[in-house]
Amino acid sequence: MMQKLDDLFTQFQSELKDCKNKQEILNLKPKYLGKKGEISNILKSLKDATAEQRKEIGPKSNEVKQNIEQLCAKSLQNFEIEEINQKLAKNKIDITMTNSVKEMGLRSTGYHPVTLIQREVEDIFLSMGFEILDGPHIEDDYHNFEALNIPSDHPARDMQDTFWFKDSVHLLRTHTSTIQVRGMEMEGRKPPFKFVGPGKVFRCERTDASHEMVFHQIEGMMVGEDVSVSHLIYFMKTLLSQIFKKDVEVRLRPGFFPFVEPGFELDIKCLICGGKGCSVCKHTGWVELLPCGMVHPNVLKYGNIDTDKYNGFAFGLGLDRLVMMKYGIDDIRHLHGADLRFMTQFHSF
Ligand SMILES: [Zn+2]
Repeated sequence: MMQKLDDLFTQFQSELKDCKNKQEILNLKPKYLGKKGEISNILKSLKDATAEQRKEIGPKSNEVKQNIEQLCAKSLQNFEIEEINQKLAKNKIDITMTNSVKEMGLRSTGYHPVTLIQREVEDIFLSMGFEILDGPHIEDDYHNFEALNIPSDHPARDMQDTFWFKDSVHLLRTHTSTIQVRGMEMEGRKPPFKFVGPGKVFRCERTDASHEMVFHQIEGMMVGEDVSVSHLIYFMKTLLSQIFKKDVEVRLRPGFFPFVEPGFELDIKCLICGGKGCSVCKHTGWVELLPCGMVHPNVLKYGNIDTDKYNGFAFGLGLDRLVMMKYGIDDIRHLHGADLRFMTQFHSF
């Protein structure tokens, strides 16, 4: 009987060698180890064996069972490894391949022109000692209106067509002026300070050549003792001449914005026609670039700033308009059109 077990194991080994896949191994296993398998058959005949024989045959059959079990597991594992290797070979990606994008006829892209100009503006303000702050797109009534001196009955709310959330409290910010409020709220912030805050803003309005529902602004604020309109003009002129790489002419006109007093519209002499008049400047020779002014005392009070001691200026610059002026683009909708023929003109890596 012991011989039978040895023969059985030899037979198993040769059959295992012939297995060509996992399924064949899985089928082979019960043939030997199953309830009606070969080993069970041998054990069944034990009833005819002597006590002496049983003592030997028990451990021996267990040993053979274990060996079969182990060999099956090992073969299965080998097949699995082989499968994985085959898959890897089939789906090989050669990460050392360069120029593949061009070879495949794809275009490599660059940064969006608004991103480029935003970075440029940030760099200029950083060099003038401003901090760069950020703020959320989803705002509440307080940060977008109330703390900027626009109470709920104020007509200026109608000037800004707002995307409201269903709760009537939250909204998509209509201007980056919210960053002024959040900047003043920041823990430990005390005058003097100056910061800018760039980002997307949202207005519920019809789109045309100069209006979009989503556009970009950069907000700026400087608070300290004896801040004046001449500071404002100085920083704006420095910014604009660095961006346009030449001296630019600016002018201030009185403008009404609830968060500044006095408020101004800062115009820039049209860079497309040089002041002679064209469609971009609506034939006036000047392009309205940004609203600005001296921060309204109410806004400073909301920011817990002592208005007897400090004052400041603030401005909100439209980044899309700046891109349009810089590159001579006559329709803001190009900026959101995702047309690669347009976008890839602004390469800079
Ligand atoms: Zn013009």
